[in-house]
Amino acid sequence: MYDVIIVGGGPAGMNAAIYLSRMGKDVAIVEGGLFGGQLNNTEEVENYLGFTSIDGQDLAEQMEEHMNEWINEDNIFDEHVTVITKEDNLFFLHLGLEEVITSKFVILATGAKHKKLGVPGENLSGVSYCAVCDGMFFKNKNVIVVGGGNSAIEEAIYLAEIVDNVTVVHRRDELRADSILIERAKSYKNIHFEWSYVIESINGEEKVESVNLVSTKNEENKTVDIDGVFIYIGVNPVYPEIEIPEFSQSIGEDKFLLTNSYMETSVDGLFAIGDIREDSPRQIISAAGDSAVASKKIFDKSLEK
Ligand code: NAP
Repeated sequence: MYDVIIVGGGPAGMNAAIYLSRMGKDVAIVEGGLFGGQLNNTEEVENYLGFTSIDGQDLAEQMEEHMNEWINEDNIFDEHVTVITKEDNLFFLHLGLEEVITSKFVILATGAKHKKLGVPGENLSGVSYCAVCDGMFFKNKNVIVVGGGNSAIEEAIYLAEIVDNVTVVHRRDELRADSILIERAKSYKNIHFEWSYVIESINGEEKVESVNLVSTKNEENKTVDIDGVFIYIGVNPVYPEIEIPEFSQSIGEDKFLLTNSYMETSVDGLFAIGDIREDSPRQIISAAGDSAVASKKIFDKSLEK
């Protein structure tokens, strides 16, 4: 039995593991994928304090090494939590089919995953949600990036260094990305914009050959020949099934989680931090900051118990 189990090993979860271990708590962390979460799909980070510019995977590795200084390797589970239940003030976390681990407190730090467009052809080879993973397959080719947020514009810039041409297809005529990114993208001669269009279908036999674009302003539509489509239209929260009746009060819009300012959900002892929170600005630094707030609250609450 642990004092605290952290579900998810992104910056939020890893930072919570460091804070709580330093507070003398017996902590376990469960991460079934790569430590670092979405950082592993990020080419360059330049808004995390202390690093003018750092590769996302390098930052993830440095965070993991830092966490490993504080947490025993027996307390790290390379698993997925499937279900969480609660009985007599204890949480039971089911890992796969058989193993169950128990704790007094749980921190959900499971983050968010890319949304799909939901158009025909999205399963063709050449459709990707990760420029860092797949960008090199499109060297000397032409690609479309869908979306107008920070992710779309950052990845358009990354791809522009590899491919011949990047066309950003955005449903409005104004981007929502940070102005520094917009300026940078507009300085690239090989980044072009298709304003006020959405993709109606992605076409091809096995791999992407073209897309059908439909105007959001008028009746216009057109077919554009293209080799790849990178989709960045936002994220959905990810967390295990939680079989605790009070939890339903914490499920907000689009399933993101509602917490108070201490990161507490409606279930006593269950905290949510980072990108799964409805109010999160979805930044690395705010995810790490959430974990400091939750850790301090857990420390204070454990003194009361
Ligand atoms: P986002 O900020 O929610 O942007 C999603 C974009 O996709 C918007 O431009 C949206 O258009 C468009 N969109 C949504 N649904 C669409 C659809 N069905 N068809 C076509 N376009 C659609 O998502 P994100 O860029 O993935 O970022 C997620 C969060 O992480 C944000 O809070 C972001 O600031 C943060 N983030 C930060 C950094 C950084 O600080 N460097 C980097 C990456 C992400 P509208 O604009 O019209 O709504």
